Parts: sequence; structure tokens; C-alpha cells
Amino acid sequence: MLLPMFGSSLGRWRIGSLLGFPVEISWSFLLLLAVAMLAFGGMTAVFVTLLAFGSVLLHELGHAVVARTLGVRVSSIELGFFGGAAKMVELPRSANHEIAIAIAGPAVSLMLSGLGFGLGAVTGVALLSLIGWINLVIAGFNLLPALPMDGGRILRALLTRRMDYVRATDSAVKVARVFAIGFAVVGLFFSAFQLLVLAPVLWMMGTQERWMARALAERYIRTAGGYAQRSAGRGGAEVEVLPRGAWEVRGRGPRRPVVASPVHLERRSGLAASYRGRSLGRGGRVVAGRAGAADRGP
Ligand SMILES: [Zn+2]
Repeated sequence: MLLPMFGSSLGRWRIGSLLGFPVEISWSFLLLLAVAMLAFGGMTAVFVTLLAFGSVLLHELGHAVVARTLGVRVSSIELGFFGGAAKMVELPRSANHEIAIAIAGPAVSLMLSGLGFGLGAVTGVALLSLIGWINLVIAGFNLLPALPMDGGRILRALLTRRMDYVRATDSAVKVARVFAIGFAVVGLFFSAFQLLVLAPVLWMMGTQERWMARALAERYIRTAGGYAQRSAGRGGAEVEVLPRGAWEVRGRGPRRPVVASPVHLERRSGLAASYRGRSLGRGGRVVAGRAGAADRGP
């Protein structure tokens, strides 16, 4: 799972770091260990849980490494009740980058799964096959197209090719809610405790994603006012920012589009550069200039 995070560090403890990424566990992870011990009896369950979380950690590391390679900062990797999260403090620069980062985690899990099954079959060690199963489940679960899971991020990124960021988020959240209802029904019929807890959390996370998409679009309008204004025509190399109705709202200066270089956009607003050339819905529209403008400087 991938989560853009702007929250506090309450209830989380750093347990070390991996490839330069701080690894944190949240209080809910300790709760999960306690539940596993009580519900499934003793240390075997705790061992399997720890094995699963080792696999989740490597999955998140896959996200984090690809994110870092694509210039997206990851503040930490957090382990909690429902698994892990590589916490990005910036947005990917394009929909394709978002897809690459989202797919990296499941790709790692599928590789570990193949490795586990393969080595398990060759050596006959049951533990290795178990690792294969655990990673297969992690990959499959994360690829469900339910935002904020990896599959949901891929779906949203694909949708932004046809619609604006906010509407794409809304559509992806609708799909996620179908899954939330499905989890609740399956959880009730099969008394699957974790699915029953996950269903309302997935629903609430959908609300949070909708809110976040809007907040980012709004923030983008506001920060767009801070860009150096340039004449739209000069060289034709600038990125033209046209927040819908923004000049009426601000009520000062000439009524013309705010124009900034892509460098400005990337420094001042992750979102503007993230979806360059795409409409941001209520936030306005980013119109891309000619390529090569990025090295012109602010
Ligand atoms: Zn993931």
C-alpha cells in the first residue's frame, strides 16, 4: 500500500532503517500481534505474523526504492494492523510514474512468491512454500483496484488520462466502496475478523482520498498565485497555469493567466507538475508548454 502522508508521528516508533528509509511500527501493529497470539494460539501465530510482516516490509521497500528513483520523497515505511505503507511526502510527477511506483510493491511480492514456491518445491521445506503463499496473498490483495491500495492507485492514474484528478479519484473511490461492501459481506458469512474490520476502514480511507484530492487541487490554486508571472507568449516555453476563476477570486492584477516555468511548478506545487497537461477538476487546469522549458530556472 502507498500512502501520501502529512500527519504527526503520534503512536509510532522507529525500529530501524532499511536502504536509507526509516522503518516505523504503529501501536496497531502491536495490537495485531496480541490478537494473533490470542486468536490463533501462541507463538506459532506470532511467528507467521512476523513472517508476513517481513514480506510486507520488502513489498513496501519495492515502492520506496522506485519512488526515490523517480524523485518522490518517502518519509518512512510504516507497519500497522492492516499491513504496511510507504509514506510519500510528495506526489509522483506523472500518472506513469504513479503506476510504476504502485506496481513495484506487488512485483516484489510476486518475485518472493515465485522464489518461495520454487525453493519450497526443490528443498521440500514447508516454511519456504508458506513464504510463497504469504507473498502471493499480499500481491493479490494489493492489486485489487480499491483505492488506497496499489491496484486502486493504478486505476486512478489510468482514469486521469480520460478525466481530471478529482473525478478520477471519485471514480476510483466508488470502485473501492464496492470492495468495502464485498469485504463486509464475505467477512460476515465466513466470520473473517480482519475483513470485517477492514471494510469500514476502507470506506473511511476512500473519504480521506476524496478529501485529499480536493485539498491538493485547492492548494494548487493558492500556490499558483505565488508564481512569477511571465508573459504567456515569450518563447512559448512556459507552462501556463489557468486556475478556473482564480483571477476573479484574487481581485488584483491584470486578468490574465498565471504563467510559471515547470521548474517553479515542481518546486512550488507537486500537484501541478504531477499532472502537467491535465485538468485538475475544481482546481483548474495545467497547460503544458514546450519541452525543454524545465532547465530555464525560476
Ligand atoms: Zn503496496
